[in-house]
Amino acid sequence: MSKIIIIGAGIGGLATANLLAKAGYEVHIYEKEAGPGGRAGQFKKDGFTFDTGPSWYLMPDVFAHYFELLGTTVKKELDLVQLKPAYKVFFENNNDVTITGDLEKDAETFETIEAGAGESLKKYVEKSDETYQLSLKHFLYSNFTSTTDFLHPDITKRAGKMLALATTSIDSYVKRFVTNQQLKQILEYPMVFLGTSPFNAPALYSLMSALDFKEGVFYPKGTMYAIVEQLVKLGESFGVHYHYKKGVKRIVVSNGTASGIELESGPKIEADIIISNADLHFTETKLLNAENQTYPQKYWDKQEASPSALLLYLGIKGKVPEFEHHTLLFVEDWKANFDAIYKTKTTPEKASLYISKTSHTDASTAPKGHENIFVLVPLPAGITLTAKETKDLTAHYLNQIKVMTGVDLESRIVSKTSFGPDDFKTKYNSWQSSMLGPSHKLSQSAFFRTPNKSKKVTNLYYVGSGTVPGIGVPMCLISAELIYKRLAGIKRGGRVQSIEPIKDIF
Ligand SMILES: Cc1cc2nc3c(=O)[nH]c(=O)nc-3n(C[C@H](O)[C@H](O)[C@H](O)COP(=O)(O)OP(=O)(O)OC[C@H]3O[C@@H](n4cnc5c(N)ncnc54)[C@H](O)[C@@H]3O)c2cc1C
Repeated sequence: MSKIIIIGAGIGGLATANLLAKAGYEVHIYEKEAGPGGRAGQFKKDGFTFDTGPSWYLMPDVFAHYFELLGTTVKKELDLVQLKPAYKVFFENNNDVTITGDLEKDAETFETIEAGAGESLKKYVEKSDETYQLSLKHFLYSNFTSTTDFLHPDITKRAGKMLALATTSIDSYVKRFVTNQQLKQILEYPMVFLGTSPFNAPALYSLMSALDFKEGVFYPKGTMYAIVEQLVKLGESFGVHYHYKKGVKRIVVSNGTASGIELESGPKIEADIIISNADLHFTETKLLNAENQTYPQKYWDKQEASPSALLLYLGIKGKVPEFEHHTLLFVEDWKANFDAIYKTKTTPEKASLYISKTSHTDASTAPKGHENIFVLVPLPAGITLTAKETKDLTAHYLNQIKVMTGVDLESRIVSKTSFGPDDFKTKYNSWQSSMLGPSHKLSQSAFFRTPNKSKKVTNLYYVGSGTVPGIGVPMCLISAELIYKRLAGIKRGGRVQSIEPIKDIF
């Protein structure tokens, strides 16, 4: 039985371990932190339980498929609830809007804001869903190793449309459906989930609106970390070995083949296959010698990182009924905000930001009579902040929240933890302090995204948000399946139906 080492216990690493252990490999995960989860971690403080990163459970069918591959179901593994409403948006100079997740009702809301926008929303979502279904079938589950996949009639007959969507920015595309600024912002904001700006993201990503308006927004009770816990529980049942507090210093390579890893603490451990779930930039430029790097620094110098962020984990005294489980704040000058993040690389004076209130749905995340509030302010990649700057920015953005929503969080804080760009770098070895990894602009998406196999080291693979298909928890589950397909020699696109034992080739 071949032995596999996975570097990192993020979602991609954990998910890959399960599939490959089921396929018959001996799998060991080496993680530098004290526990699993990576960006999707959890911490407890002052009676509050915080998810460190993800809070939106989207693409439910991707989770369903992944758990089925392991012989189980989402229902057995997670206590999932659909959020109703899906989210609420506060605007700088306008009334707030609540998106229910019921398309008929949301179309009525759109109609009250702009005549004709109700029908436009339905059309937009229908087209988004077509693109989403096509992507699930042909693009997301593909290693792009077989050209015949793309000669499928589904694709050839839509080639013109797809090309148009790929070469138009989503901002220009959305204008064909709605002209009102608030509605445009609602259709464009999901680009932030992909680490990119609506002024730069291809209109192909309009598929994201099929998720919040049609598929639904969900939450696993017990916090998003329940996903990590279940992945580990399943891994244990398949015999995966977890080694925490074991940072990897180097991938040991001779004559183009990796023989194992060297730990920060000294020992070398042998393996037949190495899969790195650590940040891809870090893996390539720090864990490999120059001659074994397929993607050296000069490759990254031409890539674009998704934004960094200031994260605030707040325990709040009393209730905050003004906020839903998911609340978004959009500033009037939408473009100036994205320009500050991507072009001038300055901290935005006024920031579009996100607030999660898990205690809305899950009483276990806050002591009685309190709320669990997470604030995410996107900031430019690559910046560093001093402790004073972090403190000042925290006060600045909390004041902005007060001005835009009328909610004074600051005076009610009983627990406060901040996490900034420098933390992304030290905790996750993150390139450019990026919150999410390389952005999803067109030249870093699908066939153009950094592939998951080294070209220099025959038995070295990559999994997670830095490689195909990209950013987000469900995408990392797909990323894991793409590694299984590589090792099983499955070249066609689309999902696999089952995990079969892989012939031992090493
Ligand atoms: C603030 C925030 C909000 C987000 N919101 C959402 C959301 O709402 N919904 C959603 O679906 N996604 C969201 N995401 C994205 C999602 O969390 C990530 O895409 C996903 O968790 C990344 O997983 P990964 O497999 O790439 O690994 P990572 O989470 O990056 O984990 C990599 C692991 O490798 C370890 N490692 C690094 N270097 C070494 C080394 N040398 N030796 C050993 N181990 C090492 C790290 O400690 C880490 O545990 C969010 C992310 C963030 C940060």
